[in-house]
Amino acid sequence: MLLFVLLEAGLLKAERGDVVVFNNTSAEHPETYNFVRQCKQLVETRYSIPFFWVEFQTYEDARNGEYIRLPSYRLVKSEPWSETTPDGYHWRGEVYEELLSWTGFVPNVFQRTCTKNLKLESTRAFLKEWFANKPETERLGHFGNGSRLEDDDIYARHLRNRGSVPRSILLEKKKFVRERPVYRPSQSYTDFSVAVQTFQNPCLHGKTLGTSTFFGKDGVEYLAFVGLRYDEMRRVIKVRRRNSGGLESAGYEGEHVYMPFSEMGVTKEDVDGFWKKQSWDLELNAEDGLSNCTYCFLKGTQGLQKVHSILGVSLDEELKNTPCDLSWWGGIERKYGRDLKAEQRQTQRDIPNNFIGFFGIENNFSYQLLAESESKKDLSKFTDNILPCDCTD
Ligand code: SF4
Repeated sequence: MLLFVLLEAGLLKAERGDVVVFNNTSAEHPETYNFVRQCKQLVETRYSIPFFWVEFQTYEDARNGEYIRLPSYRLVKSEPWSETTPDGYHWRGEVYEELLSWTGFVPNVFQRTCTKNLKLESTRAFLKEWFANKPETERLGHFGNGSRLEDDDIYARHLRNRGSVPRSILLEKKKFVRERPVYRPSQSYTDFSVAVQTFQNPCLHGKTLGTSTFFGKDGVEYLAFVGLRYDEMRRVIKVRRRNSGGLESAGYEGEHVYMPFSEMGVTKEDVDGFWKKQSWDLELNAEDGLSNCTYCFLKGTQGLQKVHSILGVSLDEELKNTPCDLSWWGGIERKYGRDLKAEQRQTQRDIPNNFIGFFGIENNFSYQLLAESESKKDLSKFTDNILPCDCTD
């Protein structure tokens, strides 16, 4: 709604470099992809503003005399990935799993590495190149035919970084990311948006080094519109802290987040009313909680149970073992969570089941438990402990 209000008011200008970004986590519901595809088409054809789908990806390169995997992003098309559409978007959890395999652990309430890497950092990396106003993104990575990462080097680096995961477990966790592409190709913006045009923005002059602009002092400053509403003040306050100038602003130099709906008193009812008047909509019932990553660990036990009661009943064959399938979440939790017994790790306190997954130490809760539970009653004791969805970005 915010995007279309801005467009109708003529407030977005392609010649200034304004751009719309959708961060694909590869863990969204199929209807979300359909909806964002429609948005992209409309925004680009009717309003001529570029709308990019951006995915987190890693690549291999040498740093300080050794090869490592570094984080970046790639542009993707709004058609699904396939052998014949290699630039298509991923929807089977590949991007999400690449992140977990790269970090070697699962995100949790206190370390939302998924939001940070899949959304915030990917967008920042994209904007740095986009504002440089070049026709394509830079090629990233070494020129070798395959991976140059050695098991011994990966384990040695882990120990150097004070890691304590046994070698065989660590290498198993690193397997997925090591099988992902070793480089990011140069990508031409016009291949990913029909609305691309060279822009003339004097504010960007002299703020590019090589192929990227720089943010912060003497660098590029930009306004980021976020559609958080007046009735979501807890999330609004959290996002505002990014612009506070204090510790939480670190890493967000040059960004000015603006959340007009929160200031104009726009609520969920207003947004629902807006969409009721349109001939198309996100074909998901807001009450079902299927937006964002389908089984996001921040949806709370009740929210997750609801998602499971809707998605779990009759899952299309095509969606099996994808993020629409609870067993996919259970699988990556087991694979990238910390099994303290297998790691032969002593702890000073009792940790339920000796396992730390998405729901942290305090909660003896897991996707496995959700899969096993059949009634709300089973999970009632966890309800107060797990916060509702908080992916503000
Ligand atoms: S929706 Fe949840 S799982 Fe997905 S990126 Fe945000 S916090 Fe992570």
